[in-house]
Amino acid sequence: MRTNPTSGLVDTQGRTVRDLRISVTDRCNLRCVYCMPAEGMPWLPKDDLLTYEEITRFARVCLDLGVTGIRLTGGEPTVRADLPILVRMLDGLAPGLDLSMTTNGLKLAAMAEPLRAAGLRRVNVSLDTLDPARFHRLARRDRFHEVIAGLEAARRAGFEPIKINAVLMRGFNEDEVVPLARWARERGFQLRFIEWMPLDFQQSWDRARLVPAAEILDAIHAVFPLEPAAAGDPSAPASLYRYRDGSGSVGVIASVTRPFCGHCDRIRLTADGQIRTCLFALREYDFRKAMRGGASDSEIAELLRAAVWRKEPGHLINSPYFRQPARGMSAIGG
Ligand code: SAM
Ligand code: SF4
Repeated sequence: MRTNPTSGLVDTQGRTVRDLRISVTDRCNLRCVYCMPAEGMPWLPKDDLLTYEEITRFARVCLDLGVTGIRLTGGEPTVRADLPILVRMLDGLAPGLDLSMTTNGLKLAAMAEPLRAAGLRRVNVSLDTLDPARFHRLARRDRFHEVIAGLEAARRAGFEPIKINAVLMRGFNEDEVVPLARWARERGFQLRFIEWMPLDFQQSWDRARLVPAAEILDAIHAVFPLEPAAAGDPSAPASLYRYRDGSGSVGVIASVTRPFCGHCDRIRLTADGQIRTCLFALREYDFRKAMRGGASDSEIAELLRAAVWRKEPGHLINSPYFRQPARGMSAIGG
C-alpha cells in the first residue's frame, strides 16, 4: 500500500489539511428542524467527551502537522461549561492562530466579551429568519431576541467581521433570501447561505426542499446586483459575490449543487474524540481511545497522518450510492 510520503497532513488527492473543526459538545439549546428532532436526541455520555486538556493536546499535535485554523462548533459550543478556558488554552498554543467559533448566538450576550478576551478571533452566528414567530417554529424555541442581543454583544466585544450562516428550506423560509441579504448589508454582517445537506439527525432530508445556491443568487441579484468577488482562499467553502454598489459581499455554500470537495482542507474532531475526514464520512478514527490508552504525541501524529491520507475524495450526495452517515451534523460538528 502507498503511504503518505511527507510529514504534513496530506491525502492521496494532493490536498493538505489546514483547518481543524472541533466539536466541544453534541448538546444544544435549540432544536432547528433541519438539524435535530423535537425530542429524543441521544446525547453522548459525559465521560466520553474529551476534556479540555485532551482537546488542547490533540490540537497541538495538529498545529505541529501544519494546521493553521481551528473552529469551535457543536452542537452548540457555548453550552459547554467554561468555554473561555478552552479558548485561552488553544490560543496559547500558537501566536496568531486563527481561532473561530460557529454558534447559534443565544449565549453571546453574556459570553462575547469573555470569549474575545480569551483569544477568540472570529464568530459565525447562525440565523435563518428575521421573523421571531418563524424562528420559534424553525428552532422550536422562542429565543429570536437573544440571538439579536448576542450579535450586538459580539459587535461591542470587537469581533470583526461577523459572519451570519443561514440555511433555507423550501416552504419554510426561502422567501427570506432578500430580506436577510438586505438586513445583513445594512448592518455590515457577512451573510452566507448554506444549502441544506443530508445530515439531519432524523434523516428527513428532501432534495425538493433544498433551495439551490443559483436560485438564491438570482433572487439577490434581481434586487441588489452582484458580481463574483476576486478569487480568495480556494479551500474556503463559500463562493463570494460582491454587491456592485460596494456595500459588502454575500456568500453561498453550495455543498450539494456545486460541491467543493476538490479543495477541502478540513478535518473534524467530534466531542467524543473521533476524527472524521469528511462531513459525510462513513468511518471515524478513535483518538479518544488512543489518547486515553497512553499513545505518545508522535503516535497520535502518525495515526492522524494515516487517517488524513485516506481522506475521502468527495461526498456522494449526488450519486445513487450515497448513504447518509449515522451521526447528524450536531454530533459531527458543523
Ligand atoms: N449550534 C451552532 C450553530 O447552529 O451555529 C453550531 C453547530 S451547527 C451544526 C453549524 C452550522 O451548521 C449552522 O450554521 C447550522 O445552521 C448548519 N447546519 C445544521 N444542520 C445542517 C444541515 N443539515 N445542512 C446544512 N447546514 C446545517
Ligand atoms: Fe443546535 Fe446549531 Fe443544530 Fe440548530 S443547527 S439545532 S443551533 S446544533
